[in-house]
Amino acid sequence: MRNSSHPSHPVAQPPPAPDSPDTPPPPLRGILRQVRGRLTTAVVLQAAAALAGVTPFVAVARIAAHLTGGSRPQAGDLWPLVTVACVSGLAALALGSAAGFVSHIADNDLQLTLRRRLADHAGRLPLGWISAGGASQIKRAVQDDVRALHTLVAHTLLDVTALFVAPAAALVYLFTVDWRLALLSIVPLAAGAYLFGRAMSGAAAQMAEYGATLGRISSTAVEFVTGIAVLKTFGRGRRVHDRLLAATDGFSDFFTRWVRTTLVTSTGALLVVSPVLVLLLLAAAGTALVAGGWTTGADLIPFMLLGPAVAAPMSVVGTRVQQIRAGQAAAARISALLGMPALPQTEAPLTPQGFRVSVRGVSFSYDGHTDVLSGVDLDLEPGTITALVGPSGSGKSTLASLLLRFQDVTAGAVTIGGIDVRDMSSACLYQNVGFVLQDVRLLRASVADNIRLGRPTATDEEIERAARAAQIHDRIAALPDGYATEVGTGVTFSGGEAQRVSIARALLADAPVLVLDEATAHADPYSEALIQAALSTLAAGRTVLVIAHRLPTIRHADQIVVLDGGRVAERGGHRELLAAGGRYATLWKAQSTGRDETREEAAVPAPAVLGRSDDPTIREREPRDDS
Ligand code: ADP
Ligand code: MG
Repeated sequence: MRNSSHPSHPVAQPPPAPDSPDTPPPPLRGILRQVRGRLTTAVVLQAAAALAGVTPFVAVARIAAHLTGGSRPQAGDLWPLVTVACVSGLAALALGSAAGFVSHIADNDLQLTLRRRLADHAGRLPLGWISAGGASQIKRAVQDDVRALHTLVAHTLLDVTALFVAPAAALVYLFTVDWRLALLSIVPLAAGAYLFGRAMSGAAAQMAEYGATLGRISSTAVEFVTGIAVLKTFGRGRRVHDRLLAATDGFSDFFTRWVRTTLVTSTGALLVVSPVLVLLLLAAAGTALVAGGWTTGADLIPFMLLGPAVAAPMSVVGTRVQQIRAGQAAAARISALLGMPALPQTEAPLTPQGFRVSVRGVSFSYDGHTDVLSGVDLDLEPGTITALVGPSGSGKSTLASLLLRFQDVTAGAVTIGGIDVRDMSSACLYQNVGFVLQDVRLLRASVADNIRLGRPTATDEEIERAARAAQIHDRIAALPDGYATEVGTGVTFSGGEAQRVSIARALLADAPVLVLDEATAHADPYSEALIQAALSTLAAGRTVLVIAHRLPTIRHADQIVVLDGGRVAERGGHRELLAAGGRYATLWKAQSTGRDETREEAAVPAPAVLGRSDDPTIREREPRDDS
C-alpha cells in the first residue's frame, strides 16, 4: 500500500535544513547571513561616522593651540580648521544617519523573511505539537524573539562599532600629541574594565539563580491565583499564601545579597570611567608635566577634549553585552523552531477512492520511547459509526488525531479510501475528514465567518441552514447583530454553544469522514441534548469515529472498540460486549451504578443518541479533491 518513501516519524528523522552546510553555523551568524552585506555596509558607515565625529575635536584642539601659542594667530591658519570641524561634524551626522538607515532596512528585511519563514514552517508542523503547547513557542519566536533581534541588528551593532572606533581614533591622535598623557588616559579604561569584569564575573551563576527565584515567585503566584477558589473552599489558602510570601522573601534576600556583593565594584567601575574623574586625573598630571616643563599647556587641550571619550564606553558595556546575549538566545530559539521537523508533504498527492478508513498495525509514541498506541487495527466501514471507549489516557484522542494527521504514525498506516493519509495533500485530507473536538477554538471574527471556515464559498443561506441543523440558529438570531456579531467582543459563547458552532462548521464542510472527540465534554445537560441532536444530523450517512465518555450515548454504534493501554482490548456491538462480560461490561456497570441495571434503556438520558443511521438514502459520495 505504501512504501518507505517517508520517514516514519517526524521526530525520529529531522530532515536537514535546506540551506545549511555540513556544520551548521552558530544560530545568530546563520540567521544574520542573509543581511550580512548590508550590515557590513552599515558598520563601515558607522565607523566612518565615528571617525568624522572625533575630527571636530581634533580641529578645535588645533585652533586652541594656535590661539594660545603666544604669537598672533593668522586667519589663514584658523579658517581651514574651522571648515574641517564644521564639515566633519556634519559628515558625522550624515554618515550616522545613513548607517542607521541601512541597518534598519536590513533589519526590516530580516524580520519579514524570519516571520514569513516561521509562519510558513509553523503551517507545516504537526498540529498535535502546536495544540500541545507549541503555539506559545511560535508566538514567542514570531513576536518577542524577532523583536530582540531588531534591537541587536538595528541598534546594538552600530552602538558597539561607535564604542570601539571613536575611542581608538581619539587615542591614536592623543599618542601623537603626548605619549605620557595618552598612556595615562588609558588607566581609567583599564581600571574600569577590571572592575566591570569583577562585577560581572559569576554573573551567569547569579543570573541562573535570579531566574530560578523569579520562577518560584511566578509559579506560586499562578498557583495562588488560579487555585484561589478551591484553596479558599478547602481552607488551604493560608498555606499557599505563605508559600508565595516565602518565595518573594527569598527573592528579596537574594537580590539584596547580589546587590551588596556587586555594588562596590560596579559603582567603583562607573566612578573611575566617569568624565569628571578622568578630567581631574589628566588635569592634575598635565599640570605637573607643564610645571616641570615636559609639555605645553596647548598640548594639554586635546586631552581635556578627548580624554574622557577614551574611557566613557566602559559605562555602557554591560547593557550592550546584555543585548547581544538576548539576541543570541533569541536566534537560538528561532533556529530551533525553524529546525523542528515538519510533517513531510508528499510530492505526488493521491485522491482517496471511497471512504473506508483503515488503521493497520498502528503504533505511536509522542517521545520516541513509550508507545501510546501499539499495533492497533481498526476498520471504519463507509456510513457506519464506530465508537472508541476506554479509560482516560488509553490513547483514544491520540488514535483519533492520527486520522486527522495531527501527527504521523510511528509504525503502521492510516488509509482513507485505500490511500495513506501521508500520500494526500492536506487540503484533500481535510475535505474528506471533518472533526469536532473537545476544545473548540472560535476565531475573533463574525459568527458567520466562523461557520464559513467549513467551506469558504458557502452562501449566507447555507450558513443559516447549517446553524439550524446544528441547533444554534436561534441563539445566533437573538444576538444584536445576528450572524454578523463578532465572537469575543459581541458575544462570548458557552462551551456547549461553541461546540454547536463548530458542528455547524463541520456540517458545512460536509466531509464524508467525521471524527468526534468528546464533543459533549463541556456541555450541561440541556445543551448536551441539543448537541446530541446536532451530532446525529451531522453523523447521518458518514463514516464516523466517535469518542465519548458517557457510554449510553454510543450504545447504538455499529461497532464499539475498547482501548486499554494503547491496545484494542475488545470490539463488538453493545449487547455482544455486555454479554461477553469484559471491560466494556465493567465500564457500563460502573457508569450505570445507582440506576436500575436490568433496564439499561432507561439509563439513556439524551433524547437523541448517536446510532445506526437507518436512513436508506445515505448519499452516494464521491471522494473530493477540489485542491
Ligand atoms: P485519552 O484520549 O484516551 O484520554 P490520550 O490519547 O489523550 O488518551 O492520551 C494517551 C496518552 O498519551 C496519555 O498517557 C497522555 O498522557 C499521552 N499524551 C497525550 N497527548 C500528549 C502530548 N501532546 N504529548 C505527550 N504525551 C501525550
Ligand atoms: Mg481524550
